[in-house]
Amino acid sequence: MKKVAFYTLGCKLNFSETSSISRLFQDRGYEKVSFEEKADIYVINTCSVTDNADKKCRKIVKEALKHSPDAFITIVGCYAQLKPQEISEIPGVHAVLGAAEKFQLVDILDGFEKPEKARVHASPISAANTFHTAYSYGDRTRTFLKVQDGCDYSCTFCTIPLARGKSRSNSIREVVKAALDIAQTEVKEVVLTGVNLGDFGIQPGLGRQENFYELVQELDKIEGINRYRISSIEPNLLTDDIISFVAQSNKFMPHFHIPLQSGSNKILKLMRRRYLREVYASRVQRIKSLMPHAGIGVDVIVGFPGETEADFLETYNFLNELDISYLHVFPYSERPNTLATEMAGIVPQKERNRRADMLRILSEKKKRLFYEKHIGHETHVLFEADIQQGLMEGFTENYIRVVAKYDPLLVNETKYLRLTEINEQGLMEAEEAYQLALHH
Ligand code: SF4
Repeated sequence: MKKVAFYTLGCKLNFSETSSISRLFQDRGYEKVSFEEKADIYVINTCSVTDNADKKCRKIVKEALKHSPDAFITIVGCYAQLKPQEISEIPGVHAVLGAAEKFQLVDILDGFEKPEKARVHASPISAANTFHTAYSYGDRTRTFLKVQDGCDYSCTFCTIPLARGKSRSNSIREVVKAALDIAQTEVKEVVLTGVNLGDFGIQPGLGRQENFYELVQELDKIEGINRYRISSIEPNLLTDDIISFVAQSNKFMPHFHIPLQSGSNKILKLMRRRYLREVYASRVQRIKSLMPHAGIGVDVIVGFPGETEADFLETYNFLNELDISYLHVFPYSERPNTLATEMAGIVPQKERNRRADMLRILSEKKKRLFYEKHIGHETHVLFEADIQQGLMEGFTENYIRVVAKYDPLLVNETKYLRLTEINEQGLMEAEEAYQLALHH
């Protein structure tokens, strides 16, 4: 039996797709082993968003060869779609597959005979026009269920539409089928994942058939899944209907992750985002009015071309006043073939980092405030399998990270707890809501 191992770089979507590709191998009788083991085939799923994508790719190839010098090395993923030829020249690589080909990997490379020169199977991105169901497994607490892929927007900093193609989705029927399969496993939480998740509903060749609001309503009905999270949704697509639905649902967690990118309308326009800061503020306000305890995470980019100190401070003040729980901060980073790279007003790297540091401090402050507000609050905590120094962690419904003394009976279990205090590491401690048990 041939052995195959995987390595994933990048986002949740890549993780769910690696899982699906690995299942395709297993269906054909291959044995899946960990990346550190000696395998006959290594599949490396790359990302184009991370800095130094090329360097990272080379490093992982080298590592794979260290574990198994004669192995067949295949590269897939966003970076493989963007730079197939460059990757094929990396010493040790035998095949590169693009976005349209990655799910046919086993068929295309049948037999995995090593070629003289690396094989490249990467059609233009317009050929990536089918949808492949994918969800991650391995971590028994949580799965990332991919329901949508690609993006029709044209944000000027983003290379994802070039790497993943047009917006397309699974049908609700197929998503429900996958969710029913997941309901049969031990998984306790399903995270709905996509490139532009709120755009869910466009089917390859058929145009828009359904929408995200309809999807959440159907998933809510499935027995055997009690926790859903919406991974990340554009503010202009987060409708009042969706917010109201989540507010009354017991299964959809009161936790949103909404990319803002900038709090300055001038910069939002340069970025070609599809909303203004006022829309963003109204989304947060709407969520908080219906779910005062909701956790809200925000993505922000600082140092975009043209961002002056005054523009940055506008973003800073906007976020400072907004009732949100944490930030994910990214210093702007140039991506080839994007409009932003041709824009004037380049912000020096040092300044980008300084602005990022300022927002990271603000994020800590926001998080602390959010946690403090919840001391004394009673809520459900889902504990995970990771154990570190005798401790384990879990998340509340609104995404507060709770720490507890390791107890094997708690792994993958949901407990009703009272949040008690924030420890030195900034994590929440908790006790059983009705009797002291976990604490100390
Ligand atoms: S919405 Fe904008 S940032 Fe997000 S994937 Fe699409 S183009 Fe990129």
